Amino acid sequence: MNVPEIFGSLVFNDAAMRERLPKSTFKALKKTIEEGRALDISVANVVAHSMKEWALEHGATHYTHWFQPMTGITAEKHDSFITPTEGGGVIMEFSGKELIKGEPDASSFPSGGIRATFEARGYTAWDPSSYAFIKDGSLCIPTAFCSYTGEILDKKTPLLRSMEVMNKQGLRLLRLFGDNVTERVITTLGPEQEYFLIDKEIFKQRKDLIYCGRTLFGARPPKGQELDDHYFGTIKPRVSAYMKELDEALWKYGIYAKTKHNEVAPAQHELAPIFDSSNIATDHNQLTMATMKDIADKHGLVCLLHEKPFAGVSGSGKHNNWSISTNTGKNLLDPSKNPRENTLFLVILAAVIKAVDENQDLLRIAAASAGNDHRLGAVEAPPAIVSMYLGDELSDVLRSIMYNEEYKKKDAPIMKTNADVLPNFVKDTSDRNRTSPFAFTGNKFEFRSVGSSENVACTNTILNTIVADAFCDFADELENAEDIRSAAESLIRKTLKAHKRIIFNGDNYSAEWVAEAEKRGLLNLRTLPDALPHYTDEKNIRLFGRHGIYTEVELRSRTDIILENYCKIINIEALTALDMAKKDIFPAVSSYIRDLAQTASLVSSVVPGLTVSAETELIKKLSNLLACFANKIDILDKAVLGAKDVEGIKESAFYYKDNVLSAMQELRAVADEMESNMSSKYWPYPSYGAMLFSV
Ligand code: ADP
Ligand code: MG
Repeated sequence: MNVPEIFGSLVFNDAAMRERLPKSTFKALKKTIEEGRALDISVANVVAHSMKEWALEHGATHYTHWFQPMTGITAEKHDSFITPTEGGGVIMEFSGKELIKGEPDASSFPSGGIRATFEARGYTAWDPSSYAFIKDGSLCIPTAFCSYTGEILDKKTPLLRSMEVMNKQGLRLLRLFGDNVTERVITTLGPEQEYFLIDKEIFKQRKDLIYCGRTLFGARPPKGQELDDHYFGTIKPRVSAYMKELDEALWKYGIYAKTKHNEVAPAQHELAPIFDSSNIATDHNQLTMATMKDIADKHGLVCLLHEKPFAGVSGSGKHNNWSISTNTGKNLLDPSKNPRENTLFLVILAAVIKAVDENQDLLRIAAASAGNDHRLGAVEAPPAIVSMYLGDELSDVLRSIMYNEEYKKKDAPIMKTNADVLPNFVKDTSDRNRTSPFAFTGNKFEFRSVGSSENVACTNTILNTIVADAFCDFADELENAEDIRSAAESLIRKTLKAHKRIIFNGDNYSAEWVAEAEKRGLLNLRTLPDALPHYTDEKNIRLFGRHGIYTEVELRSRTDIILENYCKIINIEALTALDMAKKDIFPAVSSYIRDLAQTASLVSSVVPGLTVSAETELIKKLSNLLACFANKIDILDKAVLGAKDVEGIKESAFYYKDNVLSAMQELRAVADEMESNMSSKYWPYPSYGAMLFSV
């Protein structure tokens, strides 16, 4: 495989454009992209024509505006290029108008009450900053999606807006520190994607995986992840073949797939790309997730992106590596050799600290989903409490500023290997902290709470907006300063004193931290229903409004969509659990009991007086469990029915969490106990062992 040759071969990227577009059109297009302006129709016509010619050469027959509605997945409606000609033939056509704007019926996408169903009109608008690509015979045009009345209905538009705000406020700060050359400030993103791979035949036998993407029942297997033998373990041939084909497919889409390895749980893996601008990285992550599923299917596998497909082993996250850079490629979160003297870096760092502390609620919301509620605070994931890890060196620097002490830079420690053939090497000045939700990792922040199935557009919209807001406050304050350095020092000092509670370098998984965080007054919004209502707090309406990210109407509608979605997910899970319990599990246990009873009576009739106490004991045990199971089915049934009587979306979400989810958990506990005591021949589903260890 010639990687440089195939890389981006399915993308209408700069190289393809430069080759095909007239020079003046290419320049005009680049200029509109760089200046973030709308595209002129005459330019669009030329671009559309070349794009179509290119797409036809690559086997495409259709085009689609590829967008990211509030459903969480991408949406596409395919139109073929055909246009009838006289005499009953067709030619392949594609106009600038079709490229710039699409008009899908918006009525079936979640709008959170912004629009009534009779107002069906929606618009998709090309985002020329993200390249068009060919997927499965269709030219896909990355687009934004809004309603006839102008409210946004998607996740891309707010992300683009938040990047604009970061650019604006970032430039203000840079100018204050004498940087007059930077033209744009860009946020960057490298999302590490975790996933599970299981056998397709086994998947097909589990209704819970089919309908919910996670198991609702399943006794613990004899072996889980306790030996730590899967993390970075040798990749099995079948998985390796999958990963190779996945890499190839992603490279063709111009996605910088870089790292692949086995993760902590059995059957769990990770793929990390090289970072890109937040917008492109988000589009690429959506495309990566879709491609992971497609390729798995070809290999007789199923890729599970749910945050917690299996109880008792690690769940999957998506580490959101985030930084800020200039158009010239300078990373503004790079502390450089001597961070104590790097005032601009310290101002930016202080702004991030302030942003995170003041907006713990929003960052929790940025990682909130029904699936992620099973993961956050479990052993492998950061807790729901938001805090920041800075490492020893930066913490020392900040302490010296806060208390006006002299800062002594420690020499980077030398790692002694004590084996002659191995080199000694200079260690990083700080270790990693794998337990922190928001960790500084050298020259970027790693937001680790985000769930694996999440569209990171919302996450990064929030992250960009809160930091841009802190930049804005800082720029307001510093703009009037006589001496920028000393004003900045005292601003940093003031900020650190006010927000130092958010910094925690210790073990976030420990019970002590939960108590300590409470003492510090940090929020602990444990579940989605606890967190989401804060979205529309006065402070947040003001924040998003101030920077033109969301209007109050949009924010309220988004909150409703997410809460509604949460209720729907738990409702589907509960109905699935009931279906499995009534139609499969109960009958299976019942048959097993009957067969045991028949065996017992047969044995005692053949050999009168022979004791059959083993069977009798098991019959008693299982019969008791089955009676308990029937009772739990009844409780869950009633809980699901009761949801209809709850008024208010927030109240419904709490109802589902407190009544339905908990009833499901109780039902599961009894089922798992029965499974552990049953013949596997009778159990209606593949076991955890089969799911986790059969690939
Ligand atoms: P890990 O967290 O598993 O140790 P790395 O530290 O190697 O992994 O990097 C993880 C991710 O961080 C990669 O996807 C990488 O592209 C991304 N990354 C590195 N630098 C930046 C940056 N400046 N902005 C955004 N993401 C970055
Ligand atoms: Mg990581």
